[in-house]
Amino acid sequence: MSEKDTGEMASREQLLEKDRKYVWHHMTAHNENPMIIASGEGSWVQDVDGNRYLDGMSGLWCVNVGHGRQEIADAAAEQMMKIAYTTLVQSHIPAIELAAKLNEWLDGEYRIFFSNSGSDANEVAFKIARQYHHQNGKPTKHKFISRHRAYHGNSMGALGATGQAQRKLKYEPLGVGFQHVPPPYCYRCPFGQTKATCSLQCAKAIEDAIVWEGADSVAGVVMEPVITGGGMLVPPDEYLPAIRSICDKYGVLLIVDEVICGFGRSGEKFGHLNYGVRPDIVTMAKGMTSAYSPLSATAVSAELYETFKVHETTSHFRHINTFGGNPVSCVVALKNIEILEKENLVARSAFIGNMFQERLQPLLEHPNVGEIRRFGSALGIELVEDQASKIPATAERVMSFIASCKQKGLLVGKNGDTVPGFANILTLSPPLSSTDEDIAFIIDTLLAVFDINQ
Ligand code: PLP
Repeated sequence: MSEKDTGEMASREQLLEKDRKYVWHHMTAHNENPMIIASGEGSWVQDVDGNRYLDGMSGLWCVNVGHGRQEIADAAAEQMMKIAYTTLVQSHIPAIELAAKLNEWLDGEYRIFFSNSGSDANEVAFKIARQYHHQNGKPTKHKFISRHRAYHGNSMGALGATGQAQRKLKYEPLGVGFQHVPPPYCYRCPFGQTKATCSLQCAKAIEDAIVWEGADSVAGVVMEPVITGGGMLVPPDEYLPAIRSICDKYGVLLIVDEVICGFGRSGEKFGHLNYGVRPDIVTMAKGMTSAYSPLSATAVSAELYETFKVHETTSHFRHINTFGGNPVSCVVALKNIEILEKENLVARSAFIGNMFQERLQPLLEHPNVGEIRRFGSALGIELVEDQASKIPATAERVMSFIASCKQKGLLVGKNGDTVPGFANILTLSPPLSSTDEDIAFIIDTLLAVFDINQ
């Protein structure tokens, strides 16, 4: 261990003392003994005690190119010395270059509105959709259809779009006008169907919601290509194309939230490209900069954008945020995308997913593994009390698997809402730059934790 590491180790108690006194941790009651991560390299992170862990969730589904990329740090430093900040009321070179690059990646013609977070990007999408209808002769179109179990962010509108009751209960009323329908969840089909009998009633539920709410009141449908944070719910292949047709039929905008699925995670550049649909609006964040710097974007189809240009003073989008499209973040995103391209990491994501698929099948021998679901390199393992009843695994059981993974040096996530507020799905979403050895480590660790002999 280096002297620097030893120094950090010596100060752990002091750090904890300050942490306990001053830091308000996200999404947890007071955490008396948090990991304090000090550094990272590739797919691995190290805490102040010198313990190394494979970062199986890429932080929070975001560090797609892995940790410790010197070239990103260099690009950021260089941009800071050129110009660290200017507004996007005017323009700047990194935003121009990045907006053009995103159009290449989206394989379409989109205007790019930059913000700071995934929640911001979705708020912007909702406002743009409402304003579009307003100035396109349909001012009553204001509602959005979303799905139960979806997560779209934590600000009032994005939380309104979210379909997880426990995240919302104490903060309501939220942004209004969000209606929720059952998700495509084939393992526990909300419509009692099986793969053999499936007639896409989950897609029909969206059409029904539009009809019953009144198509003249509905602005958009918002969805991730695959519900990630709500349990890795992979829909039938026909689902997203069916939603596109329904949106077209009723003049409703299709907003696709690519905050997690974008930038290679799905094995394509963006998740929706797996299904051959063209959204009206695409939102993105996380893997856009691999979280080296905060940045998000709302990509709006060129047709929609036209209606925002018709009148110089009254039809523009009345929205600004100080840091959105910060030049340093844009440069970081450009360098991040350059790495994704140069190292062929989109294809690598698909390869990692295939390795998971092939080598993790034996997990299904374990009585607590109900189903393994995958989208590109994002993986969900649904834990149950037993395979026949499909009763979701208890919190104690879920936590014991997570603790065993950590004890063996693998950080995994959990999510779900199978029972509202309760997480019984283990998740993995490692850096796309993970080496073969890293992926083998993840697989071997999972097999060992579930006590599967190979
Ligand atoms: N949309 C999806 C699908 C997400 O998973 C998240 C965050 O996890 C968000 C939006 C919100 O992003 P942020 O946390 O950057 O606000």
